[in-house]
Amino acid sequence: NYRARSAFKLIEIDNKYKFLKPGDVVVECGAAPGAWTQVCVKRINATGQMPSVLKGKHVAIDLQPMYPIEGALILAPLDFTKCSSQTKITEMLGGQLATVVVSDMAPAATGIRELDQDRILELAYSVLRYAQQISKDGAMLLLKLWASGRVKQLENDILSHYSQVKIVKPPSSRQDSAELFILASNFKKNT
Ligand code: SAM
Repeated sequence: NYRARSAFKLIEIDNKYKFLKPGDVVVECGAAPGAWTQVCVKRINATGQMPSVLKGKHVAIDLQPMYPIEGALILAPLDFTKCSSQTKITEMLGGQLATVVVSDMAPAATGIRELDQDRILELAYSVLRYAQQISKDGAMLLLKLWASGRVKQLENDILSHYSQVKIVKPPSSRQDSAELFILASNFKKNT
């Protein structure tokens, strides 16, 4: 049982692009209530439940408090955009580099469309900047956004650090919502 229906968006995206593997080191931004976390800990084998494959590591952060999830290291309530929060995530990684960074973060919508689009873009850029510091060569990045004229610029900015960028709209994301995801692959560490 998943804590939220949003689980299916990640399941659909990962079933298609298969970026979550046993042994992955995942950083997840905007994790509450924890449905994506539930999907990740299972697929990366963060609990070590599958003894024959590598054991992964999952660090999750959210502004809202979260109930524990076995296999996940949870930093909540904490604001991801604060430098001190990012330092805490890095500490939790304990010297390991992330192989996957995912963000389903969204600001509380004001209903003023341009303002909401700007705020979610700011969150996406803060994840992109942090991902550059803590990602391993070849790492993936998945970001939630709301469609706007500035998404193209973000895609281009991502392409300076990753080989490939795709816009993804999973079937369970409502067709009439502006929500979309950017999936970037193959992080290039020294660019
Ligand atoms: N993926 C989650 C799941 O499956 O359970 C749902 C995430 S929900 C759509 C978006 C989350 O982003 C909210 O819980 C919100 O608190 C969080 N968020 C928004 N701004 C944030 C920030 N600055 N730092 C951390 N989390 C933030």
